[in-house]
Amino acid sequence: MLPKIPLSSSEDCIDIKLDFSNHNLNYISNFEKDLEKYLNSNKKVVALNSGTSAIHMALILANVKRGDEVLCQSFTFSASANPIVYQGANPVFIDSEPETWNMCPNLLEDAIKDRILNKKKPKAIIVVHLYGMPAKIDEIYRIAKKYEIILIEDAAETLGSTYMGQKCGTFGDFGILSFNTNKIITAFGGGALVCKSEDVKNEAIYLATQAKDDAPHYQHSEVGYNYRMSNVVAQIGRGQMKVLNDRILSRRKNNKFYQKLFKNIEGARIFIEPNADFFSNHWLSCVIIDKEKLKPTREELRIALLEEGIESRPLWKPLHLQPVFKNTFYYNNNISEKLFLNGLCLPSGSNLSNKDRDRIAEVINRLL
Ligand SMILES: *Cc1c(COP(=O)(O)O)cnc(C)c1O
Repeated sequence: MLPKIPLSSSEDCIDIKLDFSNHNLNYISNFEKDLEKYLNSNKKVVALNSGTSAIHMALILANVKRGDEVLCQSFTFSASANPIVYQGANPVFIDSEPETWNMCPNLLEDAIKDRILNKKKPKAIIVVHLYGMPAKIDEIYRIAKKYEIILIEDAAETLGSTYMGQKCGTFGDFGILSFNTNKIITAFGGGALVCKSEDVKNEAIYLATQAKDDAPHYQHSEVGYNYRMSNVVAQIGRGQMKVLNDRILSRRKNNKFYQKLFKNIEGARIFIEPNADFFSNHWLSCVIIDKEKLKPTREELRIALLEEGIESRPLWKPLHLQPVFKNTFYYNNNISEKLFLNGLCLPSGSNLSNKDRDRIAEVINRLL
């Protein structure tokens, strides 16, 4: 039996040497400094225990309350929207546009106007940069500003990606990052909140560490959370920052490989940047199979790969189709539903070897 080729591996690329000598427990603030430097903006970073808690924290700081509405990209992982529900607020889903697969700016503006007509001005917008691809963030930013709605960027999959040279996660009022095991770099969990000022950062740290007032005993005037990153995770994260650029190079190399492999296959299209303004870390490489033009189908391709021990996965199922969100209002243009039906994430691990590539190419060439 040949070894399995996973969809995305980051954990097995890690080389850990933890060092807690000299009682040096500044790893959290040093990791935050590393990230602030890497993001290369005037934004501040708060290290938290997951990307999901970072989204929750952004919603709390955006003053999202019970009964409020939050506009959220439909084509994404459930973690982008779950924290809206934690707040007792209501998600309203917005479909995607075909170039970046992320939130459609036109549909977003239509939705905002419609919600305002319904006397329900949205409290916040959660835009997601999926698979490493920056959303049309300039247009979305302009719309958020025009209607004075707080913008939260879910950049969990997009560390290192840029739009017009600016890093994803630094455009909105808040950005969030994730260091979960399947992301481009991992600290075996962890996340971060990107925010606008030292004051907001301090407020986030206060809320994330149980909202303790300044007193000799434990005194609380507000409900707090246990959302802070641990020093162990931060230390692993710091080590990972050193390999981030290598990881991006590997993932982009995978994407080049797939572009070449599918180049002359009519009816198959690899997901790439729409133009030079967009720079994707290509966290996952994806293909769209046009079933009018090509046999086998996406599902037949997935199963053929699986039979050879090669893992692939359909694209995100839009949240407006998920049972858990079945009664949720959404603005639909069918783009995300088509992506879900016809798209496949291909093996994209940072340590994909030439041998792995040969095995993948063999199956694809045999089938298509
Ligand atoms: C992974 C992911 C999250 C959640 O991050 P965790 O650190 O796993 O909580 C949120 N949004 C997207 C798009 C993700 O891929």
